[in-house]
Amino acid sequence: MSETHAVTAADVAFAYGERAALRGVSFAVEAGASFGFVGPNGSGKSTLFKLLSTILPQQAGSITMLGHDLLRESAAIRRRIGVVFQSPAVDKNLTVLENLRYAGLLLNLGGKELKMRIDEALAAAVLTDRRADPVAELSGGLRRRVEIAKCLMARPDLVLLDEASTGLDPAARREMWKVLRAQDNLTILFTTHLMEEAAEADRLMLLDEGQVVASGRPGELMEEVGGQVLEIETVEAAALVAELRDAFQVDAVQVDQTVRIEGETVQELVPEVMKRFGDRIRRLHLAHPSLEDVFLHRTGKRFVVQDPEPDLKKKKKRRRS
Ligand code: ADP
Ligand code: MG
Repeated sequence: MSETHAVTAADVAFAYGERAALRGVSFAVEAGASFGFVGPNGSGKSTLFKLLSTILPQQAGSITMLGHDLLRESAAIRRRIGVVFQSPAVDKNLTVLENLRYAGLLLNLGGKELKMRIDEALAAAVLTDRRADPVAELSGGLRRRVEIAKCLMARPDLVLLDEASTGLDPAARREMWKVLRAQDNLTILFTTHLMEEAAEADRLMLLDEGQVVASGRPGELMEEVGGQVLEIETVEAAALVAELRDAFQVDAVQVDQTVRIEGETVQELVPEVMKRFGDRIRRLHLAHPSLEDVFLHRTGKRFVVQDPEPDLKKKKKRRRS
C-alpha cells in the first residue's frame, strides 16, 4: 500500500447466501480525501461500507485501511475509524453530553481525557450550546451533528458515512460537511443518493449491481459524456430516434419515452429539430451532463435517484421475519 493511501481495496466481493452484492470492486482512497460512492438502491454501497467498518466479515478480495489489513488487523482499524450510518445511533432519551460521555466510556476514556474529548467534539460539531439538551428535542440536522460529534470522540483518521445526509435539509447538510471538512487530514468515505452532494467529492465511484461503473474526479466523469445533453420527450421515441439519425447523422438513443443526443454541439440542433419535429415533441431539454448522464452512458440504464429509506425499512422487516 502506498503511504498516501488511506484505503486500498482490490477485487472485493460479497454475497448474502446466493445473492451477490459486490462483484469485484477495486479502488484506492488518498489520505485526507473525500471519496463518494454513488449508485442506485441495491448497488452494494451499504454492503461495502459494512465490510469496511468490519460489521460484515470479508469474503473475497483484499482491503487495507490506514496501513492495516482488514482481515487480520480489524481491531486496530476499528480504533481509528468513525462510522455514521443512516439509521440513528444516538440515544434520544439522553442529552447531547450524556451521549458523548457514553461514547467516550466505550472508548475506555475517563477523567480529564474524557472531558477534553467531549469539549473537542462539541466544539467541532458546533454543539457546545446544546450540550444539556435532550437529543429528542433536537432537529434532524442537529441530531446528525450529535452523531458526527460522537464519531469524532475517537479522533478518527477516517470516517464512513453511509447515507449520513439523507433526510437532512440542504442547510443542515452543508453544516454537516463544514464540520467534517474542518477536521485536519480526515479521510471521508461516503455514500449518497444526492448528485449535488456527490459532485462535491474529491473522487467518485459509480456502482451498479455490485460492480464499478465509473470512477474519477466528478468533473472528469461529467466531461466524458460530452459537452451537452439534449433530451427530447415524445410519445413516439423509437420512430423519432430513426428520423433524427437520418436527418442529422447524430447518435440519438432511446431511453424510456425520451430521445437523447449527447455531444459538443447538440445545442446547434435545437432550432432545426423544433422546425422539423416540433409538433411531435412534448418537451425538449438541453443540459450539461450530470452524474446521472455518466451512469446512463456507462450502463445504458437510467439512474433513478430515490430516497433509500423505504427500501431500508423493507429490508429490516424482511430480516426480522
Ligand atoms: P445499497 O446500499 O447500494 O442500496 P446494499 O448493499 O444494501 O445496496 O444491497 C446490495 C444487494 O444486497 C441488494 O441486492 C440487496 O437486496 C442485498 N442485501 C443487502 N443486505 C442484505 C441482507 N442482509 N440479506 C440479503 N441480501 C441483502
Ligand atoms: Mg444502502
